[in-house]
Amino acid sequence: MAKKRGFRIDLHVHSMYSGESLADPRDIIESALEKGLDAICITEHESLHASRPFEELKKDYPSLIVLRGVELSTDAGHMLVYGIEDSVWNDWGKHNLCNAQELIVRARNLGGLAIPAHPWQIVEGAGSHDGVQIAVDDRIASLRNLTALEVCNGKQASNPIICEILGAFAKQMGLGRIGGSDAHVPEKVGQAYTVLKAPVYSSRDLVNALLSKMYYPQSSC
Ligand SMILES: [Zn+2]
Ligand SMILES: [Zn+2]
Repeated sequence: MAKKRGFRIDLHVHSMYSGESLADPRDIIESALEKGLDAICITEHESLHASRPFEELKKDYPSLIVLRGVELSTDAGHMLVYGIEDSVWNDWGKHNLCNAQELIVRARNLGGLAIPAHPWQIVEGAGSHDGVQIAVDDRIASLRNLTALEVCNGKQASNPIICEILGAFAKQMGLGRIGGSDAHVPEKVGQAYTVLKAPVYSSRDLVNALLSKMYYPQSSC
């Protein structure tokens, strides 16, 4: 069998612990394995604590690395936070619209990273024959100390121009480019993912890998 290239991790997955998803955690893990992923990161909305049940569950699936982060709402749009521990994060940002710059600094100070999720917007006006065009979300333009952007989001897999625009922007800004499915149902897990150079086994590994910027997003559509 040909050796698989890179380490595939879906960095943006929701389950029933997000509230707006009905996805059973076991079905998510089994779907990830079926898709050939090496790892997933659960990123429930608002609460890192919400995904704690995955800690017990993952023991039943030794062939998939299961990590946990959180997706928070900020004044610069949604942001994915990785590499933070329940005990020190203490569900910071829950039920609040966070200040994005404060979140970036806070996450980094605690050994983690905050990365803008699906940072694009529709702008009306010149440049497109139908009067509408896709652009980078202008709310992230002034953020300092960013490491990466989610340039490929599974929900936009049918519209690859979004991935292209965000990817070009990330390159121009010297930022890493990640992909994640944003799946809310098991079937969508792996629709977009990130290919890392080497395996990661812990949140700390993941942060180090993301800081290296040696990875790229992939969409399965
Ligand atoms: Zn989001
Ligand atoms: Zn999401």
